[in-house]
Amino acid sequence: MIGKPLSLYFHIPFCTKKCPYCNFYVLPNKPIFQEKLIDGLRQEWKQLTPLIEKGTLVSLYFGGGTPSLFDLKYLQEILSWIPSQEIEITLEANPEDLSLEKAKALRAAGINRLSLGVQSLDDELLKKIGRNHSASQAINRCEKAGFENLSIDLMYDLPGQTLSTWEKTIQTAVKLPITHVSLYNLTIEPHTSFYRSQKAIESQMPGDETSLQMYIRAQEMLQSHGLTQYEISAFGTPSLHNSGYWSGRNFLGLGPSAFSFWEGTRKRNICHLNRYQKMVASGLRPIDFTETLPPLAQEREKLAINLRLLKGVSDLPIDRECLKIIDSLIADGFLKKNAGSISLTQKGILFYDTVASEIIL
Ligand code: SF4
Repeated sequence: MIGKPLSLYFHIPFCTKKCPYCNFYVLPNKPIFQEKLIDGLRQEWKQLTPLIEKGTLVSLYFGGGTPSLFDLKYLQEILSWIPSQEIEITLEANPEDLSLEKAKALRAAGINRLSLGVQSLDDELLKKIGRNHSASQAINRCEKAGFENLSIDLMYDLPGQTLSTWEKTIQTAVKLPITHVSLYNLTIEPHTSFYRSQKAIESQMPGDETSLQMYIRAQEMLQSHGLTQYEISAFGTPSLHNSGYWSGRNFLGLGPSAFSFWEGTRKRNICHLNRYQKMVASGLRPIDFTETLPPLAQEREKLAINLRLLKGVSDLPIDRECLKIIDSLIADGFLKKNAGSISLTQKGILFYDTVASEIIL
């Protein structure tokens, strides 16, 4: 019997230093931590095997942290657990870590998609946000190493960034051998170094109007270079893995702080490597958060997340209240109707938060 589509996520939390805007669970890159992690992942894999065997694996994603720092032999070991490598296998990487040899070794290990945390192609800005790399060369090396599926993350709303420096970054990016771009705007999250100097940072950030212009210019420039927008923040060849998040596919997350979503229930693993390892070693599931929304709230949340995909949603809810909200979002120009399906208009894309907050209970 063929099971439901399933994705797997492995959280590899190591970074060489913490970026000032980052609020992910990250640890210094030490061999002892790497050993603990692989030990924990081995145990957690055993725990999850019965569930994994129920599904049909469609994608695997190494996220972090900086998974390119994880010892190659550990990545190879994880890949040896996977029943089929004919799936999308993505690894997030820091361009600074990728020599040609390293990129070739990752490709040979079975990784077939790289997601590079480029952020900006402006050296001055990179210094301001605590990053230091020459991404263009790294991307060219990855192509040389045989990667045909290369994604980059770009950030706007950065302190000191202007519309013109942002346009230059995109102009440089589109000349590179990339197939996908994810856009992020800088948000200042609690427990980050930027949060502690929020006032000074905010005074250097571009402001709402420029921020909107930056997003619109990115849409125009990326699409005019063949990177078609398929989701609010994603352009190019769709990521099979991320598309699963937006369409409600089951996924299982392994490693400290990893999230899972299984048949409507969301879970998060404990954000502490030692405790994570101890729990899985003693046969416990390492979970510290579980949430199952009531059916109506689930349906609403699914609709709001599905709408992020610009192809729209045809599987409309039957909840009358929600249908009324959809009608008023159509009347206000946030949504449009197309032969039985609904999708975001450009206004809906730009003000997606408004759309989501109307729909979600
Ligand atoms: S590289 Fe990524 S995960 Fe690591 S500290 Fe920077 S933003 Fe956070």
